[in-house]
Amino acid sequence: MTTALDLTQAAARFAARTDSFAAGKADVCLDMADKLGRYGTFATAKQAEFAAKLVSWSIARATAAPTMRLERIQRLVQEKNLALHLGVCKVVQFQSGAIGVVDPDGSFRRFSKCTAEVASVLADVERRGLEAVQEIGKATGRCCVCSRTLTAEGSIAAGIGPVCAERFGA
Ligand SMILES: [Zn+2]
Repeated sequence: MTTALDLTQAAARFAARTDSFAAGKADVCLDMADKLGRYGTFATAKQAEFAAKLVSWSIARATAAPTMRLERIQRLVQEKNLALHLGVCKVVQFQSGAIGVVDPDGSFRRFSKCTAEVASVLADVERRGLEAVQEIGKATGRCCVCSRTLTAEGSIAAGIGPVCAERFGA
């Protein structure tokens, strides 16, 4: 069973991190540690489970290998609020602030855990930007930004809709 001390230590590890996944998690840990200290037990089994997860996440990420540098993709998803539909996966930001990919089967993974195939697509989009998503759009027939089927002649030729191309930027 997770103890208040476990959560306090996890909070310290999260606080020392700069990745987006860790953002805000130190406070969550401290809040749970405080409640656990006061009531002696978790309110629900779900909370106990979540506390254990928080502790393991704090350790796992601290020792994980450095992730790919995907600054362009992060800017698009986190600052411009776009989801990227890249055929092999979707890049999204979750309410927690974490950014990662959703596989076609619906499971969410961090960039560091994605398959080699997905990693190569991400690296290509990071490097070539609009050109890369246009190629994906031409291959899939869908716009990488809004996921809609490309129907206008100009959009089919470009591999992306005009409004989405503008939102994506150069
Ligand atoms: Zn679109």
